[in-house]
Amino acid sequence: MKNHLKHYINGEWVESTGNETEEVINPATEEVIGTISLGTKEDLDKAVKAARAAFPSFSQTTKEERIELLEKIAAEYENRKQEIVDTITEELGSPVTISENVHYTMGYNHFSQAAESLRNFSFIEHRGGHTVMKDTTGVSGLITPWNFPTNQISTKIASAFAAGSPVVAKPAELTPFAAIILTEIFDKVGVPKGAFNLVNGSGSVIGDGISSHPDIDFVSFTGSGAVGQKIMQYASERIANVALELGGKSPLVVLEDADVEEAARAAVSHIAKNTGQVCSAATRVLVPSAMKESFEEAVKKVLPEFPVGNPREDNQVGPLVSQKQWDTVQSYIEKGEEEGATLLVGGTGKPEGLEKGYYAKPTVFTDVKNDMVIAQEEIFGPVTCILTYGSVDEAIEIANDTKYGLAGYVFGEDTETLTKVASGIRAGRVKINDAEVDFAAPFGGYKQSGFGREWGDYGIEEYLEVKTILGYPK
Ligand code: NAD
Repeated sequence: MKNHLKHYINGEWVESTGNETEEVINPATEEVIGTISLGTKEDLDKAVKAARAAFPSFSQTTKEERIELLEKIAAEYENRKQEIVDTITEELGSPVTISENVHYTMGYNHFSQAAESLRNFSFIEHRGGHTVMKDTTGVSGLITPWNFPTNQISTKIASAFAAGSPVVAKPAELTPFAAIILTEIFDKVGVPKGAFNLVNGSGSVIGDGISSHPDIDFVSFTGSGAVGQKIMQYASERIANVALELGGKSPLVVLEDADVEEAARAAVSHIAKNTGQVCSAATRVLVPSAMKESFEEAVKKVLPEFPVGNPREDNQVGPLVSQKQWDTVQSYIEKGEEEGATLLVGGTGKPEGLEKGYYAKPTVFTDVKNDMVIAQEEIFGPVTCILTYGSVDEAIEIANDTKYGLAGYVFGEDTETLTKVASGIRAGRVKINDAEVDFAAPFGGYKQSGFGREWGDYGIEEYLEVKTILGYPK
């Protein structure tokens, strides 16, 4: 049993000033795996005070010192690999291979990439008549969701540390234990006192408290649009800076010269990976009308490559994170049927033999129209939609007919058409033919998917202010 009833403030594990706690559940077994303390506003105030006190010295550390710190973190993170993988498998229910190859790996890459990006990063630029300096923005508040327990929090912390910004972090209540390991890593490698503070707690107390805190200069948030809106409202009251990474309803455009089976495999992998609980998942698959039947056949053919079941066994798809998430996904599947979409595979209920645990069936709807609710709202589960198009221009139009703009995907052979679609999609990241992830590349959204960019040097910029100096001594 993992019981973590303390917060990490000013370089120490300290008792919560309140006595509210919350149990953490393993979604694969529905059993309690531990308990965390739900922090109070008083705990948060202490953490912010510690971060403020750390600001003058932490923001003045040299680039070399920060590179060394990030490298030490990456090395210690590697030492804790097995524990991180096990913890994510337990708290999120993700299959061990995904916990290792996706979750663990993303966290590692953010720390090592930040060190790498920092090496080539310039904090001062002489530009003819003036000089531009990059100054640490101040104290940063970080609020993260449950779907990637190490990814979002690691990219935010790595960028903040690279910029010399002390942080107060609040991970999601559903998956708090990976962040506790990260905190132990920071403690072990000697992150300066007060430069990192972790306060566990609810969104309504600690999340809300971070967003409205007068001594927090910048809030970096990943989560739902509804909470993102609240964070912007609070920030507007004190003109604070925010970055929001919100939801998505990303298109995957299959071109007529694409390998049908490869594209179908990619489409299914988007709802299989992390059980579809991925903000950048492709959940609208656009295929040429003439390819519809062969694509549907290919989806059925590749589906068994993604077995659902116990995350500790050799499966590709684990349970959803919670009963609440399971209920939401079920209601969207019902909605799709009501709206007249055709169920190609999957459907409501649990997969056979998986009554215990929040397992859902990978579900693919076809004959979907882009104005249906299942094509417009983020489902955040293993559900995708097949839509058809006539011309490439029409495909781009459908792809962009959404309030979101986080990601896009395009499959095909002809370079000119691939480029046309990639350029035409209004989203922060477009992948051609399932290209490899590059941790140096900026990540973030257009439209209601938010604003600001994370990862690599663009991520570091988020935690910096731009200062112009005129008449700088030569
Ligand atoms: P959520 O917005 O409910 O919670 C995210 C975080 O915000 C949690 O830590 C939560 O405790 C906190 N929070 C809740 N209420 C708050 C409040 N009033 N003030 C401040 N903080 C508050 O989202 P979720 O259910 O945890 O995550 C799923 C959502 O996150 C999906 O919409 C998904 O698309 C989005 N998401 C986006 C990205 C991205 O990078 N763009 C990545 C992952 C998830």
